Amino acid sequence: MHKSAMPQESTDTFQDQIRIILVETSHSGNIGAVARAMKNMGLANLWLVNPNSFPDEASYARSAGASDILDRAHVVSTLDQALADCVLVMGTSARGRKVPWPVIAPPEAAVAAAENAAQGPVALVFGRENHGLSNDELQRCHYHIHIPSNPDYSSLNLAMAVQVMCYELRMHFLRGIEGGEGSPYLKPMTAPGDPGWDVPPAPVNDVEGFFGHLEQVLIDVDFHRRDNPRQLMTRLRRLFQRARLDQMEINILRGVLTSVQKAVGRGDSTPSTQAKPQATGQDNGDV
Ligand code: SAH
Repeated sequence: MHKSAMPQESTDTFQDQIRIILVETSHSGNIGAVARAMKNMGLANLWLVNPNSFPDEASYARSAGASDILDRAHVVSTLDQALADCVLVMGTSARGRKVPWPVIAPPEAAVAAAENAAQGPVALVFGRENHGLSNDELQRCHYHIHIPSNPDYSSLNLAMAVQVMCYELRMHFLRGIEGGEGSPYLKPMTAPGDPGWDVPPAPVNDVEGFFGHLEQVLIDVDFHRRDNPRQLMTRLRRLFQRARLDQMEINILRGVLTSVQKAVGRGDSTPSTQAKPQATGQDNGDV
């Protein structure tokens, strides 16, 4: 990864105060998959309410490298025990209920979780694989969270629903770190000039020198005729401008053009106004 490591600042609140609660999970493999999803996103606080089977082989097998989350999981017999000290409770549901409850989307739930985590534990409650959370359990919640899935097929696998929520929490966390500027992990690195790119962007003068050289070579090899240009240079310019060339790429391209000119015996036709190409076989070897 080219980006610097994630700062530790406020990681502890995030990790410890956000509580993922699974109610009466029937397939212990799902508990392992939840632990993995949590650890991937930097969360660590797992509570299990009356699981059908835990701890067991299936849960540890599915947790991959997240067995530490399972080792530390709290197992309790009622949802009330898991919620007792929580300052905010949000229950997840794949479908609407008879009496509508305040519903928030995952990104807003992440904001609410982060804001409240400073005051005390925040619970995200997930239901049973076969019939979700009961109405009683949903009525313990301040908000319901619905992941806006396909209305004709709305129910996600339990661990995948946890993954979506943990991802939203992490995105919110990463956006807020480093004095509100966001994590370097979220900044794009797509072109020369972006932090992390290995070579500086080519200055306009060098790019223009390349275009002049390219045009000359295309004339030399009888591909381009100035009396019938067919927008060739416009389209080639657009192609290379889309790439936002860096300095090494310009050098390589200039080297290629010079070699073509030598091969066709017109090495002397390079316009004198062009910058001298610096590309060598060594440049290619560095790429
Ligand atoms: N058949 C159940 C859904 C069980 S899915 C039902 O109809 O309620 C297991 C759990 O995954 C759910 O209880 C919920 O916690 C979570 N989940 C699945 N899909 C979800 C969605 N679209 N939005 C929010 N949570 C979801």
